[in-house]
Amino acid sequence: MDLYEYQAKDLFAAHGVPVLPGSVAHTPGEARAIAARLDQTVVVKAQVKTGGRGKAGGVKLAKTAEDAEAKAGAILGLDIKGHVTRKVLVTPASDIDEEYYVSFLLDRANRTFLAMASAEGGMEIEQLAVERPEALAKIPVDAIAGVDAAKAREIVAAGTFPAQVADQVVDVLVKLWRTFVEEDATLVEVNPLVRDPQGRVIALDGKVTLDDNASFRHPGHAELVDSEAEDPLEAKAKAKDLNYVKLDGQVGIIGNGAGLVMSTLDVVAYAGERWGGVKPANFLDIGGGASAEVMANGLEIILSDPDVRSVFVNVFGGITACDEVAKGIVRALEILGDEARKPLVVRLDGNNVDEGRRILAEANHQLVNVVDTMDNAADKAAELATTDLLAGSSNSTTSGA
Ligand code: GDP
Ligand code: MN
Repeated sequence: MDLYEYQAKDLFAAHGVPVLPGSVAHTPGEARAIAARLDQTVVVKAQVKTGGRGKAGGVKLAKTAEDAEAKAGAILGLDIKGHVTRKVLVTPASDIDEEYYVSFLLDRANRTFLAMASAEGGMEIEQLAVERPEALAKIPVDAIAGVDAAKAREIVAAGTFPAQVADQVVDVLVKLWRTFVEEDATLVEVNPLVRDPQGRVIALDGKVTLDDNASFRHPGHAELVDSEAEDPLEAKAKAKDLNYVKLDGQVGIIGNGAGLVMSTLDVVAYAGERWGGVKPANFLDIGGGASAEVMANGLEIILSDPDVRSVFVNVFGGITACDEVAKGIVRALEILGDEARKPLVVRLDGNNVDEGRRILAEANHQLVNVVDTMDNAADKAAELATTDLLAGSSNSTTSGA
């Protein structure tokens, strides 16, 4: 789960990383009240879970409370890379002498953790990483040894931070690492970490990604979930313990096993090219040993996605034999009744496949098309997604292409 800047900074503060106090406003009036309370120049910052807010006009200074109200009015509703701004952070403005960059992250490729640091932080960090990679230090961090003061000094030296701020940055790094470990994060990033004219080092921005697999250890993290911004289908899937990710195509996908579902996405995307760019609408892994009920839950979620035009059920029978899956599909269609209105392409293979196909043939459901191979099934599903599009074009606003 990615956090908003204000949530990230709350976690930083709880671990002693220096941040400035701020409050969140949902309306220009609230922003005005917060600025009046702070009684100094403030920054009004869009709270959206994406970077580049500064460049998109989502970060603005305001000298007075009236000005903060006006700036909040301009920022609220702003679309930043597809994220609509619903709240702003109002926080004391800091004068900036220098901007630095520090982060810790999980380095999957190298199976370790990584510290990244640069004395040249700020809005151009991506450009810096590409054009002068040597200016962005990358130091592996051993999971057991972690980051103590000595390790932090190594990072500070590699990032070529000025001597004047070295001790403070060491302190920030040790506390930031503690945040990373104790909160079970996979990313903590500060850009910019600044030096103000008084020589203080402060985290002016914060980005944190928490590891959802560790959420059971952090009951408090549940509060950080933003139900307003959560995709409703993903929220529903989560409530039913389904492994579901919404994508932006038209073919709903259900499979058993993450690997099979991933390759199904590829095969559908490939087949979809022949049908005007049809793409997968989601990832849904019902796992091994899925019951009829799990199949019904999965189908219900996919069928309730208005973007879905056809559904591809791709199952390789293993622990769960194909006859069980077939019964699950039949049961699911019974449970859904009239709610099921989109064509299903079913490809079964593996354990007890003949019995599975027999059950589907016997049920003879008008929405179900049984296809033998994965490639042919993907092609059929993509085709059905387009024919349905044409048939339903009078009440459809998307072209799907
Ligand atoms: P991002 O663009 O989404 O990463 O948002 P940031 O929080 O990093 O803000 C972007 C830029 O706005 C920073 O790099 C700073 O240059 C500037 N900025 C942010 N907060 C302040 C502040 O308190 N005072 C001043 N003068 N500039 C700020
Ligand atoms: Mn930033």
